[in-house]
Amino acid sequence: MPAIKEIMQTMEYGPAPEGNAEVKAWIAQRKGGFGHFIGGRFIDPDGPAIDVVNPATDEVIGRVAKGDAGDVDAAVKAARAAFPKWSGLSGYDRARYLYAIARHIQKRERFFSVLETMDNGKTIRETRDIDIPLVARHFYHHAGWAEILESEFPDHKPVGVCGQIIPWNFPLLMLAWKVAPALAAGNTVVLKPADLTPMTACAFAEVCAEIGLPAGVVNIVQGDGGTGAAVAGHPDVDKVAFTGSTGVGRIIREQIAGSGKKLSLELGGKSPFVVMEDADLDAAVEGVVDAIWFNQGEVCCAGSRIIVQEGVAPRFFEKLNARMATLRMGDPLDKTMDVGAVVSRKQLERIDNLLKQGELEGATLHRAPVDVPKRGAFCPPGFFTGSAPSNTVSQTEIFGPVATTTTFRTPDEAVQLANDTRYGLAASVWSENINRAIDIASRVKAGVVWINATNMFDAAAPFGGYRESGYGREGGRAGMQEYLTLGWEKAGKVRPAPAAAPLVVPFVGKAERPEIDVSAKLYIGGKQARPDGGHSYTVFGKGGVAVGQAGLANRKDVRNAVEAAGKATGWGGVTAHNRAQVLYFLAENLAQRRAEFAAALALTGSSPKPDDEVELTLRRAFWYAAQADKFDGAVTATKSRHVTLTVNEPLGTVGIVCPDEAPLLSMTSLILPVIAMGNTAVAVASQAHPLVAARLYQVLETSDVPAGVVNLLTGERDVLTRTLAEHDDVAAIWYCGSAEGSAAVEKASIGNLKQVWTDRGVLRDWRDPRQGQGTEYLRRASQVKTIWLPYGD
Ligand code: NDP
Repeated sequence: MPAIKEIMQTMEYGPAPEGNAEVKAWIAQRKGGFGHFIGGRFIDPDGPAIDVVNPATDEVIGRVAKGDAGDVDAAVKAARAAFPKWSGLSGYDRARYLYAIARHIQKRERFFSVLETMDNGKTIRETRDIDIPLVARHFYHHAGWAEILESEFPDHKPVGVCGQIIPWNFPLLMLAWKVAPALAAGNTVVLKPADLTPMTACAFAEVCAEIGLPAGVVNIVQGDGGTGAAVAGHPDVDKVAFTGSTGVGRIIREQIAGSGKKLSLELGGKSPFVVMEDADLDAAVEGVVDAIWFNQGEVCCAGSRIIVQEGVAPRFFEKLNARMATLRMGDPLDKTMDVGAVVSRKQLERIDNLLKQGELEGATLHRAPVDVPKRGAFCPPGFFTGSAPSNTVSQTEIFGPVATTTTFRTPDEAVQLANDTRYGLAASVWSENINRAIDIASRVKAGVVWINATNMFDAAAPFGGYRESGYGREGGRAGMQEYLTLGWEKAGKVRPAPAAAPLVVPFVGKAERPEIDVSAKLYIGGKQARPDGGHSYTVFGKGGVAVGQAGLANRKDVRNAVEAAGKATGWGGVTAHNRAQVLYFLAENLAQRRAEFAAALALTGSSPKPDDEVELTLRRAFWYAAQADKFDGAVTATKSRHVTLTVNEPLGTVGIVCPDEAPLLSMTSLILPVIAMGNTAVAVASQAHPLVAARLYQVLETSDVPAGVVNLLTGERDVLTRTLAEHDDVAAIWYCGSAEGSAAVEKASIGNLKQVWTDRGVLRDWRDPRQGQGTEYLRRASQVKTIWLPYGD
């Protein structure tokens, strides 16, 4: 008689299909197709429509309207009309609605799971056990934020009307990630689902109606990329939240540059999956299943680059092949299937083309020995070996169930390979040595790192990218910040016209002449530097009197400064205590020269109370010194037997463009938070009053600020800004100047998708600590990394 073990190995799976009669009946009831949901009404579809195809069967299962600019406008108007009342409700009242949504999703969980599977092609196992429970969890979690909003985010206000554009890979989950925080914060929304997967959003609209959500709070406009562009570009949308490809992210960044809209981008990834030789290899193989074969690899944070330590690589690949052979691909409604259909035949073609390219470039493709169903868009899972890091498939997001593999020898090499990508969304690290795993997690440039785990999500755990994977976070406290504003950013007066172009020829008019001539240079890499172009410009003070000359930096100086800042990134690795100490010392040295700074400010004529400005600058240095070791992360409550850490990491090099008003206070108010969080700075001083910069670098020189941590340039603001904004080694840019300059910075930032914070030409009261200082500055000077650490055997 065969042993049980043998029986287990030879046992066949019988079919276990999930019923879809209710979903079919629901669709059949709406014979005319699904229209938009605007102002609480379901609009009868007329005009152009989109066929909805089940990618597992190639059948058209429904039709949805294709929205145009008029539909988007109606939705934005409805959202605007609903905003005052919705934002005026108490947190408790909004929480009750969010709670009701969560409950109703749970009550209809099987319906939503089946509908999502039919619309997207993903397996019922995943929609039932992952997507839909996470959707409900998201609304519960954000019901909580609505409830405690006032006490947790004092002085914050909702942003207004949010335009939200989502992709097709997790249709309802992405909707929840966008809608729940927006509503909790008191915003109203216009959401556009992907045209390939519009159905669960239609059902969600019905839930909104079912629970009696006030009309206009949630509006859903169906359509394609053009409809999405109309949402992002609508002048009455205050915030755009986008998830999708990096290409479209760039288009949106450029499209809304200068509009003053808040923006969050969750874009593509090419996430490393690092297997150290001391990893539990069987667990790591299961990790690969969840990393790249989960959801057919259509996951922005999929572990798509497997990086294995050389000594264990052959064994690991052998195990991977063996495990791959057990995967089952087929009808996604069958509960025994591991792999369903990819979202469309077009996506299948795109994946196939990339796989062919990988083979052409010399990599070997290993595929699961599965039967490919005759109908539908099915893509057998696989992995490449011999894919060099420079191969197309190692660099491009395949967005299908195929990973590349590379080997490494040392942990340093693993980190180097992991970071050899323009993206930075996620990473997995597999090692039984926790010290080593955390070390690698801290050095990988990614917004989410899973240790001995992968693709874990929770509403309390911020999710989002570094580098070209976008900016902003979804989930947790950091996610809420994306839907809130401090109000004062839009409230100030518009800055007067920019200063005249710098005068580089001798000036023979009225001038203050010091006893011994004063040279104000640039400050680059800890050294005073003459401007590369050999030009200086005359600086005028009160009454148009010339008060000195400042170096006129050019593009080469900007590049030198960025290079120097790049070499000083060790600053981000010193202890927060060390940084705090340097900031206190800076304040001390500034205090020693109080009178000198006040006199210099008096000469500019731009500081009504020079002594006060110096005093406030000292206080600001103390405040950021205090915050350097206090604006820190948290341990977040997510899943059981997991510690989830959120860490505030520096961005890298931050470009700072200073305004003319309060030249010392504004410059230090911008530089101090940046360096307090461990970044390096390249600051362009006030164009009109640059001479304080020359005094400031003397203080920096005597305050133990390491060379390159702060670099100071003087010259023509918008010329220098452009080079900074286009520089790929600048991770973020803070710009104070004109409205046109702000738009130009935002446009020029799309190359590496740097984070941009502009004042859009609106004056800030630098003296007011609520405007000129605060945790908002520290938040903008850092990015959240979420590290997941499971525990137990
Ligand atoms: P897109 O970025 O094109 O689509 C994402 C969303 O944006 C969809 O709702 C889409 O509408 C909409 N959209 C498209 N163009 C514009 C525009 N100009 N302005 C505003 N909205 C727009 O991704 P795709 O669906 O085309 O997928 C292409 C590739 O992108 C994938 O193969 C994958 O590599 C990557 N991707 C990454 C995702 C991620 O989560 N990081 C998610 C999805 C895709 P519609 O779909 O209706 O045209």
